[in-house]
Amino acid sequence: MCVAYLTQPQAIDYGTVSQLLNSLCARYPFFSAVPIGCSVLGRSVYGLTFGKGEERVLMAAAFHGQEWLTALICLRLCEEIGEALRTGLPLSGWNLRRALRDRQIVWVPLVNPDGVEIAVHGSETAGDYAESVRRSGGDVHGQWQANARGVDINHNFNAGWNELQQAEREKGIIGPCARQWGGPYPMSEPETEALVNLCNSVPFRHVVALHSQGEEIYWHYGEHTPPASRLMASVMAAVSGYTVAAPSGLAAHGGFKDWFIETHRKPGFTVELGKGTNPLPVTAFDSIYQKARDLLIVALLI
Ligand SMILES: [Zn+2]
Repeated sequence: MCVAYLTQPQAIDYGTVSQLLNSLCARYPFFSAVPIGCSVLGRSVYGLTFGKGEERVLMAAAFHGQEWLTALICLRLCEEIGEALRTGLPLSGWNLRRALRDRQIVWVPLVNPDGVEIAVHGSETAGDYAESVRRSGGDVHGQWQANARGVDINHNFNAGWNELQQAEREKGIIGPCARQWGGPYPMSEPETEALVNLCNSVPFRHVVALHSQGEEIYWHYGEHTPPASRLMASVMAAVSGYTVAAPSGLAAHGGFKDWFIETHRKPGFTVELGKGTNPLPVTAFDSIYQKARDLLIVALLI
């Protein structure tokens, strides 16, 4: 790219992401950003859309507060794709004007804006929930995954709910906490609802959820997993060196990709970006992005 990146390695939060979305839409007018819903604390959950094709793909990031680097990676991807579309130059060998002609892409870079604010700036950002967030470990570095009500968004989707509840009880998780509480009932949280409503109104051919960390790709959930999913995951793995894997324990139910596969019977993927301890440091941004870039592009084109 000959222009300076808008998405620089930096600690991000709701304000930064909102600004970046505005800047991306200003620089690349074929992008549009619209709220697809609201967080518990009333922050917008934005979707950035490109294209009018009938093959639709959703990529979403930052389900978990401490995984805010995934939002930045998602936005850098948007930016590089925007630049490739603007110039007509290839990106990773792909002519994206041609490759994306039949596609519509929706990125939701910040699924859990309140959780990211808590993870980055502490419990005092949680408004009416500040005290309960503080008591639940909201100020312990590297702990906060949940939303402002202490519900883990990626355990709040309606997939394997009874098994998930059982597993939570066995681990002593029975109420609001920093991570892994699925909430009082499935889809109790507005952030979950935002994605569910989006997927129920836009017929996505597949969805990709970005998490960190582990350099792994999850593709399977239950008997309705489409046969093509394994091959698609294998291709993403082949271009990146990531590993195709299956989650276990509490991560085995209630996730976005689980719900999407079970409800819509189309491929859904979780990509665990990077390797290390969450929150992955900003200094690791470039190396994580470079290693994952072809995977992320292929995930939109496949
Ligand atoms: Zn995660």
